[in-house]
Amino acid sequence: MTRKERYEGIVGWFSLNRPVAETELHYDSPFHLLLAVILSAQCTDRRVNMVTPALFERFPDPASMAEASAEEIFPYIKSISYPSSKAAHLRDASRMIVEDFGGDVPSDRESLKKLPGVGQKTANVMMSVVHGAPVIAVDTHVFRVAHRLGLSSGKTPLDVEKDLEKNIPVDRRAISHHWLILHGRYVCTARSPRCDECEIRQWCKDWERRQKNTEKEAR
Ligand code: SF4
Repeated sequence: MTRKERYEGIVGWFSLNRPVAETELHYDSPFHLLLAVILSAQCTDRRVNMVTPALFERFPDPASMAEASAEEIFPYIKSISYPSSKAAHLRDASRMIVEDFGGDVPSDRESLKKLPGVGQKTANVMMSVVHGAPVIAVDTHVFRVAHRLGLSSGKTPLDVEKDLEKNIPVDRRAISHHWLILHGRYVCTARSPRCDECEIRQWCKDWERRQKNTEKEAR
């Protein structure tokens, strides 16, 4: 099967069967989504969602967080991974939003990446979730699933992002990030992928390879 056929099959299947796919992070504004995405680095969305209600109530906007110290933010996020550095990032990003961006979370990638704690992946999440921009954020799930499916053999997240964006139609790019994340989180898990339950296995390169090996061994 060619890579083009894999893309067509997988994008077609998800378009038909998962027409709605959204982030599992809870948020009520672009600013709160930014906080949640920064907190979600190397942490589960479930755990982030446990701490954000109190955090959002105490810090409803960038101005309120910009005035706080990292020590004031820390208790709200202490059960999250790397709480000290993330508390500093949240405070510094809030200050920059207030001082350099007029109090609004910027919408373009270069400005977003100037914010402390924000890299390519977080910037892409903000652009696609808030603005529906045709970009694909590559996190650990997307990276793994894209490789197993045979959608990319890129060595870095940026390589994978370029492959996905080159091959996925513009109007499917924002949602495809969620398709691949959710597939990686619930079906194509890191340690024991549930291939028997996987509804897109007919287009999966890894599945195809294992089937061929099994056939060879049976001969
Ligand atoms: S067949 Fe298995 S390895 Fe391939 S995408 Fe599905 S769960 Fe992942």
